[in-house]
Amino acid sequence: MEKMLKKYAELVIKVGVNLQESEELVINAGVDTAAFARLVAEAGYRAGAKRVTLLWRDELVNRMRALNEDTATLTDIPTWLIESKEYIVNKKAVYVAILADDPEIYSGVPTEKLSALSKASSIAFKKFYDASMCNDIRWSVVAIPNLAWAKKINPNLSDEEAVAKLWELIFKTMRLDIDDSVGAWKTHQARLNSINEWLTKKQFVTLKYKNSLGTDLSIGLPKNYYFAGGCEKSRDGIEFSANMPTEEVFTAPDKMTANGKVVASMPLFYNGNRIEDFGFTFENGKVVDYYAQTGFDVLKGLIETDEGSRYLGEVALVQYDSPIQNLKTLFYNTLFDENASCHLALGRAYPCVTDSEKMSKEELSAIGLNDSLEHVDFMVGTPDLSVVGIDKDGKETAIFVNGNFAI
Ligand code: ZN
Ligand code: ZN
Repeated sequence: MEKMLKKYAELVIKVGVNLQESEELVINAGVDTAAFARLVAEAGYRAGAKRVTLLWRDELVNRMRALNEDTATLTDIPTWLIESKEYIVNKKAVYVAILADDPEIYSGVPTEKLSALSKASSIAFKKFYDASMCNDIRWSVVAIPNLAWAKKINPNLSDEEAVAKLWELIFKTMRLDIDDSVGAWKTHQARLNSINEWLTKKQFVTLKYKNSLGTDLSIGLPKNYYFAGGCEKSRDGIEFSANMPTEEVFTAPDKMTANGKVVASMPLFYNGNRIEDFGFTFENGKVVDYYAQTGFDVLKGLIETDEGSRYLGEVALVQYDSPIQNLKTLFYNTLFDENASCHLALGRAYPCVTDSEKMSKEELSAIGLNDSLEHVDFMVGTPDLSVVGIDKDGKETAIFVNGNFAI
């Protein structure tokens, strides 16, 4: 176990943020992850980090705060906290977030409070979120088990067994069960890259999604879009992996073009709450109708965040036959579940368009890139999903047949 944890920490530093000599490392870690956070710090120094800073969180105290503080206090985010995130951007530090969360930590907290808190945080930390979405900084989000989370996945196992099982699943998804896991990641990234290149070269105008769940949706792509994923490049040209594990390739849609219905294929855990059996109807890009059998108020809070949270900001393809899907495990955590399924996101778009770094906010908006305080993935992939690409001459190409890449 000790050896595996060291290997994991090493992977986070080498493949996740790809820390370079003399860079600063900031680790955002839950207090329950302290032992692992120390290993990441150690791996950081080994790779030449100039300084390592820890930002601690405690989800149980956060829950207490949400229950006990009034909305005005809860949403009044202290300046020093905002500065601690802006420090990362100003110093161009690399940033690792270690999650170990109960997926339903905020169940029972009034949803208006959570929506207000989520919105206030997005506004307060906007500079930091903007920098990460535009790859101004290199960042990586990873996860380790927490008891509440482990028990949700395997409620029938003892506490100890449930946690051990989740470690095993995480090690597999992170390719840590392979001797040369750094090498395995390089091979994996190269494969995703070749898919990115194919999809980028095709310059499809529209993607059409269909499955027996009821999804029947068309989404337009902006001109000069590119697909990314596997690994990304920061503005200074250094590769990194923003999410680990990652199995997706993704781009930004033209926000004004989605038409039709989409049915979610997995529950969504958002703001520490569960949203289940839900779907959306889009007209000219905008959500005009939506439903949820569970967590409707939470979904409503998300949709009503701002104008952009009613539009799409990401189109991601993940084949059904993927290492994470093949574990046949619902992880109750978007970091894992989004990598087991094709997904879309409501809210802000990653600027996946050639020369986007030279464009102003207004220019990006004019070509259809969505902006919002939110960016929330929801899963749409099923074993029978078909995705067809239509090019400017109207020619149709099968991209997905029966849930898997047909290319
Ligand atoms: Zn994604
Ligand atoms: Zn996303």
